[in-house]
Amino acid sequence: MIQIRGVSKSFGGTTVLDGLDLDIPRRSVVTIIGPSGSGKSTLLRILDYLEHADSGTVDFGDGPIDLTTTKTAEIRKVRSKIGFVFQNYNLFLNKTALQNVAEPLVYSKGIKPDEARKIAAEQLDRVGLADFRDRYPSTLSGGQQQRVGIARAVALSPELLVLDEPTSALDPEMVNGVLEVIKQLGKEGMTMLMVTHEMRFAYEASNQVVFIEGGHVIEQGDPKQIFEHPHEQRTAEFLSSTN
Ligand code: ADP
Ligand code: MG
Repeated sequence: MIQIRGVSKSFGGTTVLDGLDLDIPRRSVVTIIGPSGSGKSTLLRILDYLEHADSGTVDFGDGPIDLTTTKTAEIRKVRSKIGFVFQNYNLFLNKTALQNVAEPLVYSKGIKPDEARKIAAEQLDRVGLADFRDRYPSTLSGGQQQRVGIARAVALSPELLVLDEPTSALDPEMVNGVLEVIKQLGKEGMTMLMVTHEMRFAYEASNQVVFIEGGHVIEQGDPKQIFEHPHEQRTAEFLSSTN
């Protein structure tokens, strides 16, 4: 179990996260849903120290780590455990798909370039891009670019894969390929924390769904319970507003 405890964050005078607690069971897919502006991205960014929390800890099973820390060693430790897939892919545009996946292995894991290219090729095969290794991002579709982004994160063998609306920038016909890759990773036992506004996908791909509003977890449960029998009125209201 990965335990997130007491995460708070304000911007200016506005409280976005208010002592949020969340458990992520190992080998499960936990999907966060909630209104726009409810702090979903902020929470994910805090976990990777892209944003500094006002308070909070994350515990990967070897003790709580302070999410407000500025100590490089602690930040590195957490970052080495988390793979991040961004909404807008964040690929290097002047590097091929293979280089985008291989180079972080060299720089952040110290893997030799030959070995890194081998791992990168395997990961690109795994997301259905075997024939696209030498392509530059500008010659790939959005869905293919996002699959490179996923391959890059997974290649680093993170303990937790974090995905922030991985399909929201895609044309509708590109969404399914990315969803299939994510579902497959879930089946293979990758621990994932994902934000999505695709309710059908949240239902199909998740082991647990978490509804966040007002800086708190309002409700967490298996998809069937959350979508078909929400316990909380606010969850029901949110779900009826999304379709
Ligand atoms: P969500 O991902 O749930 O849509 P966000 O986490 O992106 O929500 O944002 C939550 C709130 O925090 C929003 O009101 C947003 O405007 C605000 N916010 C997020 N990042 C910043 C920032 N860097 N500076 C100021 N306000 C921010
Ligand atoms: Mg967001």
